[in-house]
Amino acid sequence: MRIGVLPIGKADAAMMVLIKENLARVFPDAACVVIDEKIPLREEAFDKKRKQYQSNVILSEVQGCAFRKTGLNRVLGVVDADIFVPELSFVFGEATCPGKAALISLWRLKPEFYGDAPNMQLFLERALKEAVHELGHTLGLRHCSRSSCVMHFSNSISDTDIKQSLFCDKCYLHVKISINNLG
Ligand SMILES: [Zn+2]
Ligand SMILES: [Zn+2]
Repeated sequence: MRIGVLPIGKADAAMMVLIKENLARVFPDAACVVIDEKIPLREEAFDKKRKQYQSNVILSEVQGCAFRKTGLNRVLGVVDADIFVPELSFVFGEATCPGKAALISLWRLKPEFYGDAPNMQLFLERALKEAVHELGHTLGLRHCSRSSCVMHFSNSISDTDIKQSLFCDKCYLHVKISINNLG
């Protein structure tokens, strides 16, 4: 599996490298790269009433990139802005399930967002969990009832902090089968 990490808007370049390196640990057989392309965060995606960005609009941009990059099986867009879907007050990410495109937002993963002191390690750990979670969706995985599994749904940051960055046995089996079917 070849995974490309795609920075969107003002997403920090150093963070892209760290996400890429950590993804390679969770998906040891995958080749991970940072895509040398920057997609702007379009104002059309901004909802003036909610003061947040529409996740699906950004995800379709990621999908466009995934179609162009035929050498990649998956593209993970990373945005540093508050994103939402209409039925929820916010989302940490979204993905095509199954499909090639995944999106995560760093906005609500920073300890500072919750009034806590900056903590790079915690921030990165959270970003990795959300990245693995959304990539899991691209491999056809649904939400898992086990609170420690990376595929458990995060309703709040404490859910993210409770879960691990790894798949449970059941989800991992599904991941392995899906990756094998990619060829
Ligand atoms: Zn999910
Ligand atoms: Zn699971």
